[in-house]
Amino acid sequence: MQQGSAPKISFVSLGCPKALVDSERIITRLRAEGYELARQHDGADLVIVNTCGFLDSAKQESLSAIGSAMAENGKVIVTGCMGAEPEQIEQAYPGVLSITGPQQYESVLDAVHRASPPVHNPHLDLVPPQGIKLTPRHYAYLKISEGCNNRCSFCIIPKLRGDLVSRPAADVLREAERLVAAGVKELLVISQDTSAYGLDLKYAESSWKDRSVRARFLDLARELGDLGAWVRLHYVYPYPHVDDVIGLMSEGKVLPYLDIPFQHASPNVLKAMRRPAAQDRTLDRIKRWRAACPDLALRSTFIVGFPGETDEDFAYLLDWLDEAEIDRLGCFKYEPVAGATSNALPDQVPDEVKQERWNALMARQQKISARRLKRKVGTRQQIIIDEVGPTVAKGRSKADAPEIDGAVYLSSRRPLRVGEIVTAKIERADEYDLHGIVSGF
Ligand code: SF4
Repeated sequence: MQQGSAPKISFVSLGCPKALVDSERIITRLRAEGYELARQHDGADLVIVNTCGFLDSAKQESLSAIGSAMAENGKVIVTGCMGAEPEQIEQAYPGVLSITGPQQYESVLDAVHRASPPVHNPHLDLVPPQGIKLTPRHYAYLKISEGCNNRCSFCIIPKLRGDLVSRPAADVLREAERLVAAGVKELLVISQDTSAYGLDLKYAESSWKDRSVRARFLDLARELGDLGAWVRLHYVYPYPHVDDVIGLMSEGKVLPYLDIPFQHASPNVLKAMRRPAAQDRTLDRIKRWRAACPDLALRSTFIVGFPGETDEDFAYLLDWLDEAEIDRLGCFKYEPVAGATSNALPDQVPDEVKQERWNALMARQQKISARRLKRKVGTRQQIIIDEVGPTVAKGRSKADAPEIDGAVYLSSRRPLRVGEIVTAKIERADEYDLHGIVSGF
């Protein structure tokens, strides 16, 4: 580092959107203190790696990212989920400067200060009030709580992140308002268990503008919906009060989109998974939700090959999918995670059976997705533009979350801008994406 110039930090952010929010917070603090971000490890003053430790494959990815940072730079600070169990990192890379767990922002900053002290300069110390975003400017993740009170048998997140801790409603709303004022058009509400929001606060009220808002899922969703941006709800479990949120979707306050990680449908498997809000009338509820809000898009994730999953359980899941008609789906083959109680369950499923079931489920879903998308041909949809190319722009309808769902490809008579919301006529559908032409601006 040159005398008086700002220290440069290279940052690697791995893992889920929740980890991305942690990265954004750390970077915001660093920028506020005058640090700069480097594009490459080589030549940076140090490297921070925000790791993911959820699955063994994610741990491997994290270790190899740490390895590259050590080789290319040598001054490395590790944080994030894998940092909650530091032994593996210490063994592989004893020269790492510091290892901290998720949300330990202060410890990360202390480690940075020790390795590369900040240079105070009033011109460098400027940071936009909404913070630094790693996602494009037109959408932003909004984390409303941390941790989880559930104890799903395949999951170690509660061990890593602790029990549910919700942010007061006014705190979330202030952040959301700042984001919208800075140009964000879509807020993606995330947590480990969004529908449990506020339980730990006993749904306490906090002051927001001229009123008090309770820390309740429904109240928060309604207030967020009044800010003038698209509001998309992720990681919602089907507790009974979720029915009330469907009303907000029909009114157009929040997007008609629910991301519910069902993980399975068979009661035996759900029981072995110890899933929250698992109940046998879910199909009836989905039908009622769709009757109340016909545009509702459902996204979900499923795990195949969970210990004890029989051919009958899997057939049950396929039939259930046909009835539920989940619009968007992600499927994982069960993988043991160090520390998860499901590791000790009997009747582990062989890898080739997991693969067969994964193939069968994805093939079934492809048909369901194609069927659902075909119904949109001829309709007009609002589309938010994510990327602009020379002839075609790529965007998303209200039914598509960024990075995980399908896209809408559009042609247009006039150039489009990233972040713009346009109306488009849908002309064609394939298995996962839509194609159309802009019909209104
Ligand atoms: S709900 Fe289950 S899977 Fe999700 S974070 Fe909590 S324990 Fe893990």
